[in-house]
Amino acid sequence: MLRLQDTYLHKGKRKALVKTIREKGIKDERVLDAIYQLPRHFFFDSALVSHAYEDKAFPIGEGQTISQPYTVAFQTELLEVKEGDKILEIGTGSGYQGTILHILGAEVYSIEYQKKLYERTRKFLERLGVSFHLFQGDGSKGLPQHAPYDKILVTAGAPVVPNELIRQLKIGGILVIPVGDRSSQKMLKLTKQSNTKVVKEEFDSFAFVPLLGKDGWK
Ligand code: SAM
Repeated sequence: MLRLQDTYLHKGKRKALVKTIREKGIKDERVLDAIYQLPRHFFFDSALVSHAYEDKAFPIGEGQTISQPYTVAFQTELLEVKEGDKILEIGTGSGYQGTILHILGAEVYSIEYQKKLYERTRKFLERLGVSFHLFQGDGSKGLPQHAPYDKILVTAGAPVVPNELIRQLKIGGILVIPVGDRSSQKMLKLTKQSNTKVVKEEFDSFAFVPLLGKDGWK
């Protein structure tokens, strides 16, 4: 259980990490506080745990990564999370991003493509005492059985915006999704103003692992 101990040393490193992310432009104090509250080292393999408070992505097995903290903060800020929001996360990975949304008061639905990763993260979140709704499957098609959502967050790089995700948003809902080629993607924020009007905003480029599945990379 050593791995789940949070010490003053860890808190000090988190404080420094939050300072770094703030200097890179994240302004939402609630998002910064959630990053400060959540021990990122809990989500790491023991071999890499000493790197947990670097502002970098790291491997989590199955060829996947836990996103860079700045990227997590950037996407979370764009989502404008409100207490009670029903949020679909596509790409559960380690469970770190989903737990940040949970801390912000969202009701989180999260879907992971890789079976082994899904199983491991499900058991880990249970041990951590974090309860959100986890699913295994192809999130490029969304999660229609629980739609509509206030917000949808895609944490893997997509070739296009899947129409199905727009369909599963409530009116007024927000979709945050990185879209581009396999090596670099522009962060997009799409706000569904009505069934026929979606407003698109474009932000900086990021480098995500590919979104697989029907509406992802083949
Ligand atoms: N949000 C994660 C976290 O906090 O650790 C990091 C996500 S990692 C950058 C992207 C994740 O998306 C990987 O775990 C990958 O297996 C998953 N993924 C890729 N395509 C997917 C799909 N079609 N449906 C669901 N998950 C998918």
